[in-house]
Amino acid sequence: MTTAKASQTTSAPAKPARGRFGPYGGQYVPETIMPALEELDLGFRAALADSAFHTELQRLMKTYVGRPTPLYEAARFAEQVGGGPVWLKREDLAHTGAHKINNAIGQGLLAQRMGKRRIIAETGAGQHGVATATVCAMLGLQSIVYMGEEDMRRQAINVYRMRLLGAEVRAVTAGTRTLKDAISEAFRDWVTNIESTYYLIGSVVGPYPYPEIGRTFQAVISREARAQSLEVIGRLPDRVIACVGGGSNAIGSFTCFVDDAAVELIGVEAGGRGLGLGDNAATLSTGRPGILHGAHSYVLQDSAGQIAETHSVSAGLDYPGVGPEHAYLKDRGRVRYVSVSDAEALEAFFGLTRSEGIMPALEPAHALAWVRANPHPGVTLVTLSGRGDKDIQTVATASGHEEYLA
Ligand SMILES: *Cc1c(COP(=O)(O)O)cnc(C)c1O
Repeated sequence: MTTAKASQTTSAPAKPARGRFGPYGGQYVPETIMPALEELDLGFRAALADSAFHTELQRLMKTYVGRPTPLYEAARFAEQVGGGPVWLKREDLAHTGAHKINNAIGQGLLAQRMGKRRIIAETGAGQHGVATATVCAMLGLQSIVYMGEEDMRRQAINVYRMRLLGAEVRAVTAGTRTLKDAISEAFRDWVTNIESTYYLIGSVVGPYPYPEIGRTFQAVISREARAQSLEVIGRLPDRVIACVGGGSNAIGSFTCFVDDAAVELIGVEAGGRGLGLGDNAATLSTGRPGILHGAHSYVLQDSAGQIAETHSVSAGLDYPGVGPEHAYLKDRGRVRYVSVSDAEALEAFFGLTRSEGIMPALEPAHALAWVRANPHPGVTLVTLSGRGDKDIQTVATASGHEEYLA
């Protein structure tokens, strides 16, 4: 098994080793977790080789999630931007209002197939917790969601939503009482309940095979979008743009375009209130390689290697790490990573809402903001990873509109 000692940082192998994306990825976990990762890897491979698994996944993607999600031409938004046409991949129309359900359903079915009936998950803003609780309700599985106490206070509605769905939400009081502490607590639970429990990670982060599992279930975004572009637009887009938190909607949006050399791929991170350490969550733009939550990738850290505090107006992007495949795509130069500020994202939220009658989540509002600042004469495809209903309290506070909600 891959360990820190075996990590290759000097010469990237021509064909990345299993579990590696160039020098990134790997399994930097306590030995007690290794058998569980091995079992997960075997279970995942077996599911991929089983046509019944694919049939059931496709049935649920269609009849439960509502896939394929449409490709919509945002003509009035494009006019505002002042370049060529802008198309939106409407993940906001998926059940529960975001792309996270794609991954939660895939892993829920995987857990079921592996005979694990106790599901644990971590959540920051609550979106992944809601997606997990939703899938567990539908599949009849037990769900326990770890959430930082501070996040529970900030996202009280999502906590209630998870409880309505039958999940047990456990408050995490360690550290900064936010997402990274919740992830640590979920790993602790997994170690002690490894026989019965499946840990359902919500993005393309964590030790191998999680980044690959997340990519496999989110690739449906670009598989559909690529085929829809050819069918509806009659050609591939010139650029594909997605926001990057842990990186799952972006990997899902890029995967089927990576071999199309003419298609420019752009990941947009949270620039927060500035590019100084602690003021943003722009991990690839301002971080350095390091290890967080079991994988080698870019990390926001101080000079002593301590994980930095992060800030973003968008709770879903507010994470100090990023999936290891993004680190590799960045170093290879295949994807360009940029960032936009809280203020620009808020402006783009209003821009799309007023021009199209579509309220975006603040996460993809970052991708829209970058498009607004960088008009292009060609065809632009943006992944609208989720809807903005969850964010209207934040928008009201940030815009001085709180009296309307009183
Ligand atoms: C959670 C979330 C994100 C960020 O997560 P990724 O893994 O980077 O996709 C982006 N958009 C929405 C709507 C989310 O809920």
